[in-house]
Amino acid sequence: MSVNFNISTLKSQAEQISEQIIGYRRLFHQIPELKMETILTEQNIVKILKDLGVTEVKQGVGGHGVIAIIRGTQGGKTIGVRADCDGLPIKEETDLPFKSTNGNMHACGHDVHTATALGAIQLIMQNKEHLKYDVKFIFQPYEEGGGGAKLMIEDGAMQNPAVDEIIAMHVHVKPNENYAVGDVLVSSEPTSAGIYSYEATFEGKQAHVCESFTAINSVHAACTAVAEIAKISKSNKDIVNAITLAHGGVRNNIIPKSCTIAGSIRAFDAKLHNGAIAKFNQIVNESASKFGCTVSVKKTTDLVPMNINKTVYEKFKNIVNNMFPARGAVELVDRDLIGEDFATFSNLAPATHFFLHAKPQGEYYPLHNAKFDVDESVLHKASAVLAAFALYN
Ligand SMILES: [Zn+2]
Ligand SMILES: [Zn+2]
Repeated sequence: MSVNFNISTLKSQAEQISEQIIGYRRLFHQIPELKMETILTEQNIVKILKDLGVTEVKQGVGGHGVIAIIRGTQGGKTIGVRADCDGLPIKEETDLPFKSTNGNMHACGHDVHTATALGAIQLIMQNKEHLKYDVKFIFQPYEEGGGGAKLMIEDGAMQNPAVDEIIAMHVHVKPNENYAVGDVLVSSEPTSAGIYSYEATFEGKQAHVCESFTAINSVHAACTAVAEIAKISKSNKDIVNAITLAHGGVRNNIIPKSCTIAGSIRAFDAKLHNGAIAKFNQIVNESASKFGCTVSVKKTTDLVPMNINKTVYEKFKNIVNNMFPARGAVELVDRDLIGEDFATFSNLAPATHFFLHAKPQGEYYPLHNAKFDVDESVLHKASAVLAAFALYN
């Protein structure tokens, strides 16, 4: 056991493997795969894990998810690290020499998440004699669209060994005067929102307008619901409930049998989010019964808000402060009401989540943009803090 091992040793080891992490990122960047179909991605992850000497690897978890377990010297606790690995159906418009070769794109940085998690594994393997607890890396497909987390969890990802704490990272490129490239952005508040998207179909009875007294007007019921829902976001900026589609009928002299509305509810706070969903259901039911209609609600997205555990958050923040004393952990100041599938894991074990600010020089292209890119020179920092979270937990 080397007596000189400390957090700055780990930091410089991470700098030394920067090129390899970039290499991993470029490999995945060229073959972005969608949803659950991450077949080549799975193969590449498994190959790299074997090359790094990881012996406990489970493939095909919840489809093409991969789990890698590294046992600590003491055991008794399992630390989870989750990295998503799927791409998007976007045609890449960058001039990168390692641009996508298959018409899809890693436009959300999940290539980076996979690569930096592998970098963290490389660092842990290098310092294995200092690893006290077990570490479980979860490589998750199908984050985009949501659902991959649930599939892996249903297939036992959080069990055998049971995960006691879990962490995940997302790259961040939105410019902000508070952030420098390479900053680790943290928050004790939820870093992603709950998203509940719906389609509500009101059913009544069709009739010609001249016999409207025999009709049950589904449009009237739907519009009454829309008017009530519209008041919600107006009165509370912490909750969004936006109607994005309203459709019913074909012409001006026929009262249609059905009318459909669709929209999305979003909030950071779990209580507000659940309250908004309950209120929405109440509104559509009351609006339907007011006109004698029935209503059926279909959930099209149902994602919980991120659940940040204060203790795990503080522990991680201290690690970052120790590793990067000059900048320390930087407070996240620009939360957006976006969803992140890691929230599902964060509701099953005490969790924390962070962003790595990696905006490249020049013009700003947001996540999910065909010209999205990252500053690769800071990726090793994510590997360093993930490895430190396992080694210094
Ligand atoms: Zn995304
Ligand atoms: Zn993403």
